[in-house]
Amino acid sequence: GSLTAAEAEGDERTIEAALRPRTLEEVVGQVRVRDQLGLVLEAARQRGRAPDHVLLSGPPGLGKTTLAMIIAAEMTAPLRLTSGPAITHAGDLAAILSGLNQDDVLFIDEIHRMSRPAEEMLYLAMEDFRVDVIIGKGPGATAIPLEIPPFTLVGATTRAGLLPGPLRDRFGFTGHLEFYDPAELDLIIHRSADLLGVRLTDEGAAEIALRSRGTPRIANRLLRRVRDYAQVRADGVVTLAVAHATLDLYEVDRLGLDRLDRAVIDVLCRRFGGGPVGVSTLAVAVGEERETVEEVAEPFLVRLGFLARTPRGRIATPAAWEHLGLTAPKLPDS
Ligand code: ATP
Repeated sequence: GSLTAAEAEGDERTIEAALRPRTLEEVVGQVRVRDQLGLVLEAARQRGRAPDHVLLSGPPGLGKTTLAMIIAAEMTAPLRLTSGPAITHAGDLAAILSGLNQDDVLFIDEIHRMSRPAEEMLYLAMEDFRVDVIIGKGPGATAIPLEIPPFTLVGATTRAGLLPGPLRDRFGFTGHLEFYDPAELDLIIHRSADLLGVRLTDEGAAEIALRSRGTPRIANRLLRRVRDYAQVRADGVVTLAVAHATLDLYEVDRLGLDRLDRAVIDVLCRRFGGGPVGVSTLAVAVGEERETVEEVAEPFLVRLGFLARTPRGRIATPAAWEHLGLTAPKLPDS
């Protein structure tokens, strides 16, 4: 349905929440994950049991939180949200787990960033629905087992490989989210525009889709920016010209690369002669955290075929040089 006036006028975060698909059916793209997950949920419903634990992996903004909410909604179960960085002590996790009710869905975003002791507590909880609460310190400490009701854990991580094996193995299903292609983003943009009451032409939508970095969250954000532009500097309709002007204003390039993406290939080509260079060095050179370069910028650059990860470090491909308007150095004859 449509948004209420309050939602449409609401701040940006309210808007983002309001644009989330609410059922698996409404989810655009991610066909494989949707099918696989649909089966897991349907089978659990038929058996009248909580579904297996689910791990969702993929770059930010592709719909992990959205899918977690859908899992809970489809199971008509309450969703509890937390994140890895918020769980610094095993006690934090024990408190969350002991507060769960039967069949609750617990979503842990950035699950790879939980502390080690919390991780170990989670193993036991996932497998045996039990936690050992440690009372006291040192030699006198005792572990008191505490039963917790069966629940479904949904973990989200930017890369499944960041999780220790024992944790990864305890998920019954792992869904890998992929970047969206322009046709899928086009559908998402039209859907969001309808919900927000934004008037846009097909050419305008297609242009935003092309420049959204394969990411629905970015598509929705760009849509809000072009809508601003159309309202303030044009007649309210998002046309191709409006889309172009806005995206240029916000320095989103022809392929959707943002400032960080461009900085990474720029530094790689200009300063390091195309590589190979280690990711830590690259991160220092662009002034970002290594994790951000690795988990946010690189997946998209790899997908575009601009960057390759090799055992000796990152290298820029000829396509990356070309995108920057540079000439790739000649490879030595082999
Ligand atoms: P993070 O890992 O940073 O939490 P995420 O992968 O969980 O990101 P979401 O917050 O679920 O991403 O999605 C971002 C926005 O993109 C949502 O507000 C939603 O509107 C939109 N979105 C995501 N996936 C889809 C989809 N398949 N169809 C339509 N809209 C989508």
